[in-house]
Amino acid sequence: MGNENKERKETRTEIARLGEFGLIRELTAPFTVRNSGTVMGPGDDAAVLLPCPACPEYTLLTTDLLLEGIHFDLTYFPLKHLGYKTVVIGCSDIYAMNGTPRQMTLSLGVSAKFSVEQLQELYEGVRAACDDYGIDLAGGDTSSSLTGLTLGITVIGSVAREKIVYRNGAKLNDLICITGDLGAAYMGLHLLEREKRALAGVKDPQPRFSGYEYLLRRQLKPSARREVIEELDAAGIVPTSMIDLSDGLASDLLHICKQSRCGARIYLDRLPIARETYRLAEELHADPVVAALNGGDDHELLFTVPLSLQEQVMRLGGIDVIGHITAEETGVALTTPDGSDIPVTAQGHTGVPKDE
Ligand code: ADP
Ligand code: MG
Repeated sequence: MGNENKERKETRTEIARLGEFGLIRELTAPFTVRNSGTVMGPGDDAAVLLPCPACPEYTLLTTDLLLEGIHFDLTYFPLKHLGYKTVVIGCSDIYAMNGTPRQMTLSLGVSAKFSVEQLQELYEGVRAACDDYGIDLAGGDTSSSLTGLTLGITVIGSVAREKIVYRNGAKLNDLICITGDLGAAYMGLHLLEREKRALAGVKDPQPRFSGYEYLLRRQLKPSARREVIEELDAAGIVPTSMIDLSDGLASDLLHICKQSRCGARIYLDRLPIARETYRLAEELHADPVVAALNGGDDHELLFTVPLSLQEQVMRLGGIDVIGHITAEETGVALTTPDGSDIPVTAQGHTGVPKDE
């Protein structure tokens, strides 16, 4: 123990060398499970707990941290929307386990620049989301902060044991399905950042948002896909694997493939991308496919189902089949319309985009 500590003091590894996921693996690998009720620890969208051996339901637990200046910028992010989005982020991870969110705690680090009225506005958004997702605020913690606003959200949910869906269940030839469309929230963020730069120091600023309301909504008032989970349940479909899209399709599909020990082939011309996303990408000389693959914050669901369920899934509407699961050795590939393959790699997603 003594030697190990001494060695650790003498070496210095930069966090960037491991990346976010490598760091989490490095830190959590030495932990072993002590309680039989801990069914799944770090590594999926939520932890999976079994309150008692005979319990018919698992308890799901997820936590997220949102920091001012990293995850949100209050110059253009209304506090009410921020409160709403914080709850959406938590609920989305519960839905990604095929579960139902039930309770949440919300912790605040808050600096003196905020008034009571502003925090009430934040909580109005929290309340609206509690209504929309049917969950209860069960507590939290409040502390003063030197560095603006910090939000810590924890959501607890539940799922029948036979209906739990992990990231690791995808099987060869399964269809890769996606809800909604990709990259719009990311392009919305670019639009907000562009106007912030253009209007810095301008009196009575008039941002140019016309025609891009959809992109703004996707960034500022996202929703978690409660209705998709309910529709899948009503249709008797339990996906083989699932993840919510928070870091971008590329990164999140790679999580499914890594944990399911499989490869994937997705088709570029099947990626659902909204018209507004294309239009703004063109205006900003950006690539809409990059936005779709690497843009974060979509909060859509990426899931796999056996090939035999194709018709049933398509009948639900609003779901696109973008490819299929392949053998692990083939890796994860994106096929372009001319038939060539591009290997899919992940880019880290840190929140606020850098200047182009
Ligand atoms: P998501 O994007 O779905 O919220 P994350 O990428 O934040 O998921 O986290 C992936 C997994 O790693 C989750 O199971 C989470 O609980 C776990 N995790 C993240 N950070 C830590 C940490 N500091 N210590 C332990 N587990 C962590
Ligand atoms: Mg998630």
